[in-house]
Amino acid sequence: MELKFPKKALVTGAAGFLGSHLCRRLLEDGYEVTALDNLFTGTKNNIISLFDNKRFSFVLHDVTQPFWGQFDEIYNLACPASPIHYQHNPVETIKSSVLGIMNMLDLALKTKAKILHTSTSEVYGDPLVHPQVEKYWGNVNTIGVRSCYDEGKRCAETFAADYRREYGVDARMVRIFNTYGPNMHPKDGRVISNFIMQALSGEDITLFGDGLQTRSFQYCDDLIEALRRYMELPRGAIDAFCERHSLGAPVINTGNPGEYTIKELAEETLRQIPGSASKLVYRPIPSDDPKRRKPDISLAKELLGWEPKVHLKEGLAKTIEYFKTLVR
Ligand code: NAD
Ligand code: UDP
Repeated sequence: MELKFPKKALVTGAAGFLGSHLCRRLLEDGYEVTALDNLFTGTKNNIISLFDNKRFSFVLHDVTQPFWGQFDEIYNLACPASPIHYQHNPVETIKSSVLGIMNMLDLALKTKAKILHTSTSEVYGDPLVHPQVEKYWGNVNTIGVRSCYDEGKRCAETFAADYRREYGVDARMVRIFNTYGPNMHPKDGRVISNFIMQALSGEDITLFGDGLQTRSFQYCDDLIEALRRYMELPRGAIDAFCERHSLGAPVINTGNPGEYTIKELAEETLRQIPGSASKLVYRPIPSDDPKRRKPDISLAKELLGWEPKVHLKEGLAKTIEYFKTLVR
C-alpha cells in the first residue's frame, strides 16, 4: 500500500525474529519504517528482503544509548529473548531492557510518539496463579540466572507505567507468551527451534527435567496482528479500558492458551518429521525454569477483538518448512 504521507514507525530489535515480521507487516500497511538493531542476536538476513523497499531503512544502534528521530509510533522490541542468549551477557541484557525503555520513552516524550513496549510472560516468573492474568504480580527470583531478563522486563514495565502517569506518554505494553515461527535463530536454544533442528539433523531431542513442564505456544503472525491492533487504538479507548479494569497501566497478555507439556511438543515435532532418527533424551532442568505457563487472554480479546488463529500443529508445520531451508 503506497500512501502519500506515510506514518513513520521506529522498530527496535528489528533484525530479530519478531522485529523482522513486524517490519514486514508495517511496510505492507504503508508505513515508513526505521529498523534499529545492534545485531546482538538478530541478523540482517532476517530483513534483507526489505532493503529494496524505499520506505525501509536500517540503523545500527544500541538502545542503551539515546536515539533521536521523529516518529509517529515506536515499537520497542530490542532485548535478547532466549535463555542462552540473555544469560550469555546478563549485564547487557538488563541494560537493554532498562536503559533501552528509558531512552525510547524519552524519545516518545519529546516527539509525542505512541510507544508499544514488548514485555514478557517471564514477569510472572514461576507462577503460583494459573492461567496467568495481568493482575497477578508474579513469583520471580531477583538474583537467579533468569533474573537479568525477568527483572529487567519488570523494571521496564514500571518505567513505562510511570512515564505514562507522570509525563503523559502514550505507552502501551504487551506481555508476550512463548512465540515461534520462521526467522527464529536456529541456535538460540529455545525449545521449538531446538527440537526442530535436532529432529531435522537426527540428533537426540533434549528434554529438560521430566519434560512435564508446560508452555503455550503462539505463532508469530498472531502476535503481530495483536501488536498492530493495539497500536491502532486511540488513547481514549485505552484509558477507558484501564479504568474499567482498574489497571494501573495498559498491559495485556498475548499468547495462545493451548497448553502442552514439553514432551508433547517433542512428540508432535517427531510426528511432523517422520523420517527423523532422533530419540528423546532427558537432561537436567535449568534453574528457575517455570513449571507451568498459560495466558489468560480475556483482556486482549476484549480490547483488541483479537484471538490467536494458528493452531500449534499448523504453526509447527510452517516453522519446520523454514528450518528445512537452513539445513539443506
Ligand atoms: P530476538 O533475540 O530474535 O530479537 C531481539 C533483537 O533485539 C535482536 O535482533 C537483537 O540483536 C536486538 N537487540 C538486543 N539487544 C539490543 C540492544 N541493546 N540494542 C539494539 N538491539 C538489541 O528475540 P525475539 O523473540 O524477536 O524477541 C523480541 C522481543 O519480544 C524481546 O524484547 C523479547 O523479550 C520479547 N518477547 C519475545 C518472546 C518470544 O517468545 N519470542 C516472548 C516474550 C517476549
Ligand atoms: N526446553 C527443553 N529442551 C530444550 C530447550 C528447552 O526441554 O532443548 C524446555 C525448557 O526447560 C523450558 C521450555 O522448554 O521448560 C521452554 O523453553 P524456552 O527456552 O523455549 O522458553 P522459556 O523457558 O523462556 O519459556
